Amino acid sequence: MRNGAILVLNAGSSSIKFALYNVEREPSERARGFVENLGSEARLKFELPNGEGERHDLGPADHSTALEEILNLATRLLGRQPVVGVGHRIAHGGIDFAEPRRLDGDTIAKLRALSPLAPLHQPHNLAAVDAALGVFPEAIQIGCFDTAFHRGQPWVNDTFALPRRYFEKGVRRYGFHGLSYEYVTGALATTAPEVTNGRVVIAHLGNGASMCAIHEGRSIASTMGFSALDGLPMGTRCGQLDPGVLLYLMDQEQMTAGEIEHLLYLESGLKGLSGLTHDMRTLEASDKPEARQAIDYFVFRIRRELGAMCAVLGGLDTFVFCGGIGENSALVRGRVCEGMDWIGISLDAVRNRENKSLISSGKTPVFVINTDEERVIARYLTEFLEAP
Ligand code: ADP
Repeated sequence: MRNGAILVLNAGSSSIKFALYNVEREPSERARGFVENLGSEARLKFELPNGEGERHDLGPADHSTALEEILNLATRLLGRQPVVGVGHRIAHGGIDFAEPRRLDGDTIAKLRALSPLAPLHQPHNLAAVDAALGVFPEAIQIGCFDTAFHRGQPWVNDTFALPRRYFEKGVRRYGFHGLSYEYVTGALATTAPEVTNGRVVIAHLGNGASMCAIHEGRSIASTMGFSALDGLPMGTRCGQLDPGVLLYLMDQEQMTAGEIEHLLYLESGLKGLSGLTHDMRTLEASDKPEARQAIDYFVFRIRRELGAMCAVLGGLDTFVFCGGIGENSALVRGRVCEGMDWIGISLDAVRNRENKSLISSGKTPVFVINTDEERVIARYLTEFLEAP
């Protein structure tokens, strides 16, 4: 095993998360943090395992300034210890990348070509790769793909009912949040080994939100499709939308592709419905009827997808919440699970309010599991570093 540290970068559309680990078979965390609010009043925050940490205001920092800050911070925190590997969360792996890959020139070019499929994420992910290569040229760099966990899905959930040539061209249902589902599936195997081989639905509810139906540890259906827009409504993304709406926007409102992209990715979802904010905590605290309606719609879509996934799985053995909303909002969890006794779900109100790991009292266990995409990447990176 190499002596050194691992850096994990998870570059999103408005934030960049990072984590540092010692290289060990189960990587031990040295620090973790994020830069949030990119483009306006950006803030860098990090925390050490002993609870100490720092917070800096970065002003209207963009992605590249934030990356520079994070890479400098990593160098400062590690002192003389070298960074021997950098792992990147990459939104889209397309048809070909079903496993983590070492990032060389050829792979990076292929991933760049996938940018139109994840325009809000892929370019930032790849900018992080370029920046890290510049600062740590000796380190092994790997990419871990959010689509990879779903690549084995059955054909019926992989395709759209379009002429087949589009499927061949890669117009498929890829699914995202795969690193989170992988982490949670692994954590469930430790928390509740008796249910891991069963029928599991995981709801990853954060600013981005999706659900995944898992049978015997494998993804068989997900709510996200070709892009990170489909399925559940999100902070600013619309979720499932009748394609006829797009035709209407183009024909009747003469909107360009760029304007529609902006509308669907950045102005819709909870923000669009409430007219207030994308942030669930703020919506829960608001007494505006539009805020309540935005939550109503969010909950309704999750319940609908849960029902659909139970049908696909032929029943349900375990339901899991994760992501910022899934891990913290007792209100959303409670409302999603209301009247779900037909699939054995009955919440324990006190445990739910206290954000316990097991929050149910019925036949079907309901868990809250804090997801950790960075750790999944660190584990893969360790495997690469161990390889002869
Ligand atoms: P991302 O997808 O950007 O990683 P997160 O997983 O951090 O997002 O989730 C962010 C969402 O979680 C926000 O809508 C935020 O309001 C919500 N959230 C965080 N804490 C709470 C809480 N205590 N109650 C309700 N919602 C919360």
